[in-house]
Amino acid sequence: MEGSNETCVYKNKDAPVEARVKDLLSRMTLPEKIGQMTQIERVVTTPPVITDNFIGSVLNGGGSWPFEDAKTSDWADMIDGYQNAALASRLGIPIIYGIDAVHGNNNVYGATIFPHNIGLGATRDADLIRRVGAATALEVRACGAHWAFAPCVAALRDPRWGRSYESYSEDPDIICELSSLVSGLQGEPPKEHPNGYPFLAGRNNVVACAKHFVGDGGTDKGINEGNTIVSYEELEKIHLAPYLNCLAQGVSTVMASYSSWNGSKLHSDYFLLTELLKQKLGFKGFVISDWEALERLSEPFGSNYRNCVKISVNAGVDMVMVPFKYEQFIKDLTDLVESGEVTMSRIDDAVERILRVKFVAGLFEHPLTDRSLLGTVGCKEHRELARESVRKSLVLLKNGTNSEKPFLPLDRNVKRILVTGTHADDLGYQCGGWTKAWFGLSGRITIGTTLLDAIKEAVGDKTEVIYEKTPSEETLASLQRFSYAIVAVGETPYAETLGDNSELTIPLNGNDIVTALAEKIPTLVVLFSGRPLVLEPLVLEKAEALVAAWLPGTEGQGMTDVIFGDYDFEGKLPVSWFKRVDQLPLTADANSYDPLFPLGFGLNYNSSENV
Ligand code: BGC
Repeated sequence: MEGSNETCVYKNKDAPVEARVKDLLSRMTLPEKIGQMTQIERVVTTPPVITDNFIGSVLNGGGSWPFEDAKTSDWADMIDGYQNAALASRLGIPIIYGIDAVHGNNNVYGATIFPHNIGLGATRDADLIRRVGAATALEVRACGAHWAFAPCVAALRDPRWGRSYESYSEDPDIICELSSLVSGLQGEPPKEHPNGYPFLAGRNNVVACAKHFVGDGGTDKGINEGNTIVSYEELEKIHLAPYLNCLAQGVSTVMASYSSWNGSKLHSDYFLLTELLKQKLGFKGFVISDWEALERLSEPFGSNYRNCVKISVNAGVDMVMVPFKYEQFIKDLTDLVESGEVTMSRIDDAVERILRVKFVAGLFEHPLTDRSLLGTVGCKEHRELARESVRKSLVLLKNGTNSEKPFLPLDRNVKRILVTGTHADDLGYQCGGWTKAWFGLSGRITIGTTLLDAIKEAVGDKTEVIYEKTPSEETLASLQRFSYAIVAVGETPYAETLGDNSELTIPLNGNDIVTALAEKIPTLVVLFSGRPLVLEPLVLEKAEALVAAWLPGTEGQGMTDVIFGDYDFEGKLPVSWFKRVDQLPLTADANSYDPLFPLGFGLNYNSSENV
């Protein structure tokens, strides 16, 4: 390793960050600089790969478990192993390890899983979301990672989009307020720092990443990675606005979107990435590409990877989520610099930005995992916070019609109740995508409480709870035995393009399960979904009560807290609920607005619309 602490400004923790950045940059060779711009996937990472290529960052893509039920300490050992390899290189520049911690640290078995953003959007509670960010930061840091690819601040303009649930709302004002996740993750920037200067308050924080810049939620027909066809004024008003709030909180990184703006791929757009984001808005952190996004430029720019690297780096991408073929990336970028097609000043700018974030994140002083944080993963306090989040996220859409009085809160002092439906006892379904696997899974994927578990706990021993995933003929023939039914139906997990859907009906015969019961017995329907779905008229008419529970995560008791009346409903629709898919896109600012339930709708126990 080069120099001593006295001779190297960059090693002096008391020197100003900009002086440390300049000093370190002045010592770096071209391979060391290009290494910093390279982010590789864990599966191709070994300690020698890091040392030999001066790799700047490693990621664990897709919110997935790196190996089956890896414990938090296994993670920390793995990441510290990579870190030691980076520290052993000539200049000892630490890596920054990034993960998709998008609703808690969903990459680790036993972590607290919070509601997906659409549910948090229903809470309208910026302070709650800041606290969710702070808890997530601890659980991420505990496993050794330093960077969460969150929050997604997309404005959800069309629920046919497969990433709808990653958005807080259709409304930019709501997203702006709820982007407080950034301060939760990174810590509050100190007052003396001007807006836009990235800063992390301490070792309990992680680097945040506002994504996907910009317009990802506004694509035509909600097609993932599609084209957002809007004027500059509309782009600014609807899609760019949330980034201003993130920048004001000092967000350190921004991820470019796979999508295009009026036909121009974001990863190739110099105006948006450099002139607007960096120059006009003063963003001083770094722009990370999306996963294999450079290859996806091949459609407009041809399949020559070298050319895609050139276009993207020149447009303003600072670090490339390669993630596998790092040798090719390093070779091509080196060649481009040597031929003058990418200038050294562009490289220096990118590397300065990356180093700046690493310095302010404290990585040079605290490169290794603080093992005292291990106990924070899935701890009681965080689960309590997740339970509060679930409580506040529930939206009551209907409460009674067929009886004289509102149906909810449910009476727990009854003899026997029926709990049924595909989603009543499935923790994986409750968590949705980006949990254990990128596309999500079914079943007991981690530690947590399903709706059924929570109901049993809430009613206690005196009430018999009969659970059948699909009600049997026998049960259907003897429904009078039950005081009421709770039916849980909804979407099965998905992510990104896999979730694009132009039908938006309730899968797994959800409508049929509900109507079979609701016609004969007082029924509460709990709908688990990442977005509004088509509600058949019969369901709307026959169900006594209807609750949108979104994708609540591991803490099922948050639902029973409210449906049994210990707490009131507080959730308000973060998006407009359409009647029919032919109305889409449907947003509250549209000229002719005729939703089933408008943006902001949500009953509570005192609402006049309850029967
Ligand atoms: C997604 C990003 C994510 C990245 C890394 C991409 O497919 O678009 O949101 O951060 O993968 O997993």
